[in-house]
Amino acid sequence: MLNRSAFFPGGGGQPPDHGVLLWGGVQTRIVDARKGDDLYLIPAEGDPLPAAGAAVRGAVEDPRRTALMRTHSGLHVLCGVVFRDFGALVTGGNMEPLTARMDFNLEAVPAGFKEAVEEACNTELRADRRILVRELPRDEAFRLPDIIRTATNLVPQDVKEVRIVDIVGLDQQADGGTHVASTSQIGKIEVVKIENKGKGFRRLRIRIAD
Ligand SMILES: [Zn+2]
Repeated sequence: MLNRSAFFPGGGGQPPDHGVLLWGGVQTRIVDARKGDDLYLIPAEGDPLPAAGAAVRGAVEDPRRTALMRTHSGLHVLCGVVFRDFGALVTGGNMEPLTARMDFNLEAVPAGFKEAVEEACNTELRADRRILVRELPRDEAFRLPDIIRTATNLVPQDVKEVRIVDIVGLDQQADGGTHVASTSQIGKIEVVKIENKGKGFRRLRIRIAD
């Protein structure tokens, strides 16, 4: 446990950062994190641990974090496009660096859906929309239209300030994750597969490419 750190602990479907702690000429690899009341960084098995109270420097593994930021922002673009063009809400999702799935509540899949979604997403990436993050008081946040893009409101009742991730002109969501600064930084979105998981339950698998 550190008193402060730049490690993203995971949450909202985004996995935690990996990296290292540097102290006294040695390094502790960080391979996972847990968030309870405090943030716990999980060391690689067998790595040396600093003594309580020791000063350490942390370094986040940049290629992984950058890939996760691109993937997370890509999912918000997907979410925005599928809501705007097909009116479908998100029911779940998961991501790994450069690959992800998102589940939608969508009764029927129209012909050409996969191609239409992919094309519309990439149009938004080429448009280079800014991605802005701001915090709003809870009441104010929930007055924004369509702010909760997931089918159920997942923001706990005791959260007073809501963090909003705004892909300007496309999608606004309450979200705690890390994102790139504009949609062109995502790269390209490939819709790999659409799975029918039961009545109204469609799973879209995407890949993020350069
Ligand atoms: Zn998100």
